[in-house]
Amino acid sequence: MSFENKLLEIETLDIKIAQLENSKLEYPLKLAELKEVIGQKEKSRDLTKSNLEKLEKDISSANIDLETHNNELARSHERLTSVKNNKEFDAVQKEIRTRKTVVAETKQSIAKLKEKLPQLQEEFKAAQEEVDGVIAQNSPQIEELTSKIASIDDDIAATTSEKNALCPKVDEDLLKMYDAVLLGRKRSGKVLAHISADSKKCSYCGQVISPNLLKKIFSSAVLVACENCGSLFVLTENAQNQKTS
Ligand SMILES: [Zn+2]
Repeated sequence: MSFENKLLEIETLDIKIAQLENSKLEYPLKLAELKEVIGQKEKSRDLTKSNLEKLEKDISSANIDLETHNNELARSHERLTSVKNNKEFDAVQKEIRTRKTVVAETKQSIAKLKEKLPQLQEEFKAAQEEVDGVIAQNSPQIEELTSKIASIDDDIAATTSEKNALCPKVDEDLLKMYDAVLLGRKRSGKVLAHISADSKKCSYCGQVISPNLLKKIFSSAVLVACENCGSLFVLTENAQNQKTS
């Protein structure tokens, strides 16, 4: 196997390592985003829930008030049976009228509160459905990202040891040149510019390759670097055949 092919294999692994390293930063961000969407929906669901609970509480405490007022009214009616004179009778009658008004008012306000109930129940139900929907929608991706995050370090270690097994097969000086470029390109892992006989540009930076440089790439036994970006030119397999034929 030519040294170009070995370097290309090593580069493929370095690109994979770079992608994994990038994922180590990106995946947790994506995961947080997906969870945030669910969190927002849960927050508005909780708001509708607490509105509903407050209304239900108001209704139940108004019902307790109603019971109290009804008891008071019943006591007034009882008292009516034991009045001793007209003056007392009039006073108790007045008390009964007042208590009847209070009972009627309380019933009215309970009815008003109950009118609001269906809308709040509907709002809560809709909000809960939105939560369920977004959970169903995001869960597969959340699970996938979680398991990827859990295995990412192992994936990097496996790819790195695959690379380490290849390195001794490449000339030490070539590897030094390669590593020097890689040092500045950890985020992409791309070190090589792929060249064929009719290449006009560096495949990494797009710099035009002069015919002289192209000739040098094809004739030289050592690696030639792009004058602009420093990428190391390697011949694609077709070009390697052209070189040897
Ligand atoms: Zn270049």
